[in-house]
Amino acid sequence: MDPDALLEGLNDAQRAAVTSEAAPLCILAGAGSGKTRVLTRRVAWRAATGDLDPRHVLTLTFTRKAAGELTARLRALGLRDNVAAGTFHGIAYAQLRSRWADRGIEPPTLLERKVGFVARLLPPGRQQVPAIDLVAEIEWAKARMVAPDRYAEAAERASRRPPIPGDEVARIFAAYEDARRRQRMVDFDDLLRLCARDLDRDPDFAAAQRWRFQHLFVDEFQDVNPLQQALLDAWLGDRLDLCVVGDPNQAIYAWNGADAQLLRLFPKRYPTAEVVRLTTNYRSSPQVLAVANAVLAGGGRGVDRDGALVATRPEGPVPTVTAHDDDRAEARGIARAVRDQHRPGSPWSAQAVLVRTNAQITLLEEALHEVGIPFRVRGGAALLDQPEVKAALRTVQRATGGFPEALADLEAAVADPDGTEGDRAEERRANLEALVRLAHDYTAVEPVPSVPGFLTWLRATTRADQPDRHGDAVEIATFHAAKGLEWPVVHLAGLEQGLVPIGHARTGEALAEELRLFYVALTRAERELCLTWAAERTFGTRAMKRDRSPYLETVVAACAALRSGADPAQVGQGGAPLGGAAPGRARAARPSAARSRSRPNLPRTRGAPAPDDLDDDARALFEALRDWRAGKARAAAMPPYVICNDRTLLELATRRPRTTTALLAVHGLGEVKVGRFGDELLDLVADHAP
Ligand code: ATP
Ligand code: MG
Repeated sequence: MDPDALLEGLNDAQRAAVTSEAAPLCILAGAGSGKTRVLTRRVAWRAATGDLDPRHVLTLTFTRKAAGELTARLRALGLRDNVAAGTFHGIAYAQLRSRWADRGIEPPTLLERKVGFVARLLPPGRQQVPAIDLVAEIEWAKARMVAPDRYAEAAERASRRPPIPGDEVARIFAAYEDARRRQRMVDFDDLLRLCARDLDRDPDFAAAQRWRFQHLFVDEFQDVNPLQQALLDAWLGDRLDLCVVGDPNQAIYAWNGADAQLLRLFPKRYPTAEVVRLTTNYRSSPQVLAVANAVLAGGGRGVDRDGALVATRPEGPVPTVTAHDDDRAEARGIARAVRDQHRPGSPWSAQAVLVRTNAQITLLEEALHEVGIPFRVRGGAALLDQPEVKAALRTVQRATGGFPEALADLEAAVADPDGTEGDRAEERRANLEALVRLAHDYTAVEPVPSVPGFLTWLRATTRADQPDRHGDAVEIATFHAAKGLEWPVVHLAGLEQGLVPIGHARTGEALAEELRLFYVALTRAERELCLTWAAERTFGTRAMKRDRSPYLETVVAACAALRSGADPAQVGQGGAPLGGAAPGRARAARPSAARSRSRPNLPRTRGAPAPDDLDDDARALFEALRDWRAGKARAAAMPPYVICNDRTLLELATRRPRTTTALLAVHGLGEVKVGRFGDELLDLVADHAP
């Protein structure tokens, strides 16, 4: 291919990045700025100029799906199948297999069912702990290269919330490694570790692999973990032909062990590295970008401030925020909106519906199914494949008393899934609740419900309209699975407190990751961005009142400013004044605002104690409340005192209210704030009981 043709359709900074002779090269830029485009063009350009042989290129990403897309883009640039594109795991496994074959080593067994394996290692008295939660801890530790004896301390430092105390997790982790080794098994993370180790120890193997892959490229580098970085270094050896691209503001896998510092500190690790920044966005309309930038600007500590991008695309409609009465109305509303947006000449695949959790997907599947819109669920595990859902369905099948009994069992399982706490416990409960909801849907349409009938109906409803892989369809995906992708029209559903940010995100770091995840979701849209939330959502059989996501405060204010004709570039600078300036307007979209009644006349304490007067317990609670407030303020892009002032926090810390009525008696807490934050405050007080 003509090298000059490969530089067409690039701006100066992108062209500089494509043609740079720097080694290594690091491209650090925001969403939609053309990072992936630059990466693929760079491979093609270097091939076209004879600077590299594409057979010696390795391009790395994090999912097989993403690797497939890289291959497709490279093929479109004239590089046929000779560029290797894969995941760290895939490439490591292939290299190890070839080494084992060459040296006549009997390959170890790949441990694919870790959950069952770990379940057998649970000590007496801990049999009820969900093994899947322990597997998550083991995987996190291995991604961070933390050995069992260092687990407890490392987990504590990282504010992990394992289902049982850290030292017990560490013992199970150690037992896992022992048992695995004794049985000559390796897990997925071992593949990375072993490949790095063998490259280090076996010079012939290292020479062969380093000859095979001489030029390394990594997309989405913000999500790399220390173990992958170690393997990358082993692949490189003492060479420097490495190009990474990434965006620290899109780091969304810290909970899995990824470390965006590896991207930020890339120039420190490789002193000869050149860093190129791209500042122009080619994906989104100025209106979409203004909203995304405003959210980022209000994001506080967890985001890089120089991430704001300049728009180049034509003006588009102002994003919309719609409140629905409940989750079903929301799903139906989205189905209608999808149909309205389906104009002549634009395929279904121009639209995506994105949600925070897997459990939200089924309701959308049902709604699209009902009106005959083809859809496809991307990435993430399907509800019916979740271990707890499979287990529940097995129980349902065993029920002898017919469908009513099966449903009762199911509801009981939701009420008390396994008595544990933690992030995955919430996710598990949500999945089971989605299943219960489906069971009720089934009884509503089926006059003579039966267990086999339910199972058939379930498969039909949640999967019937999945067209063949390449058919035209609306995509449904989680925010996580949408990373790196783009659609002309994006619907973001379920933007409620408890989902966005997710309820289990409590630490500053976890909340910052939630905000970045929201930013990832917003920046998938090219032209139309439709945001929705529901004032009531049914979890299993419980209908719960919902508050809209605190992040919407900024979005609503930005949209109002855009509608009143403000310059999108100014709106995008958003931040605190934006969120704080228009609270009245922002709140007008809340259907619940009308509910606010007059405040009961409750006694108040006169004069609150000063922070110095607090005893240790009260001080701990006060500090926790301050952290909580800081998180809220960041999320809402408001100054902390707008959430509540110090005096209120001091009163909370000393009086420890346990009921909503008691909360209302605290200075500075009215109906609106108690309605919005009451549950969280009561939880915090309960969590810090002396
Ligand atoms: P993300 O951070 O979401 O992964 P990215 O930085 O990798 O985004 P790309 O996907 O490479 O961005 O590019 C975003 C969109 O902009 C793509 O449709 C791409 O083809 C287009 N694009 C990138 N650069 C240009 C350019 N100079 N001119 C026109 N279109 C461009
Ligand atoms: Mg990209």
